[in-house]
Amino acid sequence: MTSEHVKCLIIGSGPAGYTAAIYAARANMQPVLYQGGQPGGQLTITNEVDNFPGYPDGVQGPQMMQDLENQARRFGSDIRYGLVTSVVFSEQPGLGAPHRAIVDDKHEITADAIIISTGASAKWLGLPSEMRLNGRGVSACAVCDGFFFRGQDVAIVGAGDTAAEEASYLANLCRKVYMLVRRDEMRASHFMQKRVQTAHNIEILYNTSTEEVLGDDEVSGVRVKNSETGEERILDVTGFFVAIGHKPNTDIFKAYLDLDENGYILTEKGSTRTSIPGVFACGDAQDNIYRQAITAAGTGCMAALDAERYLVTLEMQGEEIVQ
Ligand code: NDP
Repeated sequence: MTSEHVKCLIIGSGPAGYTAAIYAARANMQPVLYQGGQPGGQLTITNEVDNFPGYPDGVQGPQMMQDLENQARRFGSDIRYGLVTSVVFSEQPGLGAPHRAIVDDKHEITADAIIISTGASAKWLGLPSEMRLNGRGVSACAVCDGFFFRGQDVAIVGAGDTAAEEASYLANLCRKVYMLVRRDEMRASHFMQKRVQTAHNIEILYNTSTEEVLGDDEVSGVRVKNSETGEERILDVTGFFVAIGHKPNTDIFKAYLDLDENGYILTEKGSTRTSIPGVFACGDAQDNIYRQAITAAGTGCMAALDAERYLVTLEMQGEEIVQ
């Protein structure tokens, strides 16, 4: 196994990781960033991004991630393809026992500060037709893609707070929203349930499962089935949204960091500090509420600033010990 030491290691690409890299590189922290299994993160499977400030004409998700990567490289960030497969976080990182990360099971990196920006992955139903039409009418983000379905009929599957919130968002844009709920009740909070139940253009179909998303090159309908009666019907929709939850990519950290019950990393209020000194978390790995590219980028900036302050304190402590 090869080994090296770095000042600042960033785990994961996407808007959070690249923004952290831009700030860390400009602060002379010589960041090394490992991109993970999906370089650029969730935005690379989105088509048009219209809501990120600074792109007046919109931008393709993959292009935006390439722009962010280029910007991070311009200031000297060392951006590498590779997956951090395990970590060992030190309880006394400033006292000669730095944090460790293993990349692709074959390269060891020790780091004075680590920024986690591993993001979250949307859960999917797992239908072949859903995968085939992903990005062509099938989406896991109403806020990102709802705009493209203005005045059209869409369906959204899920019955939690996210599905209810996204159904309401879509109802403001679309002509009609079918909400597909697999049981005879929703999981969403009472308030959110009331909101979708009283919306004039949301039709909630309970006990309903999605059998197939229809369409050759783009979505032209959804075949659904009532689990009580066995009856199937086709909904004429052009958009199909999946809102059945996200899974934060935090499994490798759970032995060390405090996580919430859904696996999101807990950070100190108003900062990106985790329960371990020298380890910072930003982006969707620690955010189950906003989950936007712009908020991820914002917390990426915060993580680099928090890490910089931490490193300065560490250096000062080291000088005191030497004196
Ligand atoms: P949840 O896990 O709460 O809900 C997922 C929903 O998807 C459930 O209703 C579930 O159905 C349904 N589902 C899961 N798998 C399937 C499937 N294969 N087919 C059909 N339906 C399926 O996820 P959310 O993303 O909604 O919320 C995550 C957390 O974030 C929650 O704690 C939530 O309260 C919180 N949140 C808070 C918000 C806020 O405060 N503004 C906004 C958004 C989220 P079933 O009920 O049958 O299991």
